[in-house]
Amino acid sequence: MRLVLLGPPGAGKGTQAELILKYFKIPHISTGDILREHIKNNTALGQKVKEYTDSGRLVPDDIILEIVQDRISKDDCSNGFLFDGFPRTIAQAEALDSILAEKGIELDFVINLDVEDQIIIDRILNRRFCPKCGKIYNLKLNPPKKDNICDDCNVELQQRKDDKLEVIKNRLEVYRQQTQPLITYYNSKNILINVPGDDTPEHIFEQIKKAIEDRK
Ligand code: AMP
Repeated sequence: MRLVLLGPPGAGKGTQAELILKYFKIPHISTGDILREHIKNNTALGQKVKEYTDSGRLVPDDIILEIVQDRISKDDCSNGFLFDGFPRTIAQAEALDSILAEKGIELDFVINLDVEDQIIIDRILNRRFCPKCGKIYNLKLNPPKKDNICDDCNVELQQRKDDKLEVIKNRLEVYRQQTQPLITYYNSKNILINVPGDDTPEHIFEQIKKAIEDRK
């Protein structure tokens, strides 16, 4: 199963990704996670991309495509993968088509999580993550048992640097301008699955599963 998760920041892509990869047993490729790992480890690439991610701008396509080329060539991707946060521009989508065509494969489905701006802003402002295991919490909808402490690791939860109101507004604007056109792009290829993202994670996942099974 070769899938892409599409949707604005805060639509719940990370949460759905966890459920999808457990069910379909495919690796999760989040370009945002890969970039954050580089920034955390202060690699040359991390230093180059930090100014973009901190301000909510898109990292240039050539950098992203190199990361994706490299990741998708690993053995664990031979039976499928789930892209999350990639592609984000038409140029990236076209490049992905070429990368896959060279391998003689294509995407099966692109799942678009549809959520209104106000819900997104509320969700992102309440989003926290565990710096150790990466588990995502929402302080209102899915809070940890102990105040601001990861249930599994017992370490203090953190907020992403780009989850601040000003940066969120910028990320939403960037999404509308550069990423939203991908909905039409994949719709015209007949592989788009639209799922309303304003629901519980379990219910959203059930809808994704059903849509994929119905169209297989
Ligand atoms: P995410 O975790 O997917 O929200 O990504 C966090 C940030 O990483 C974004 O705001 C961008 O600055 C950068 N980023 C992640 N994926 C991409 C991509 N496919 N193209 C360009 N920039 C990206």
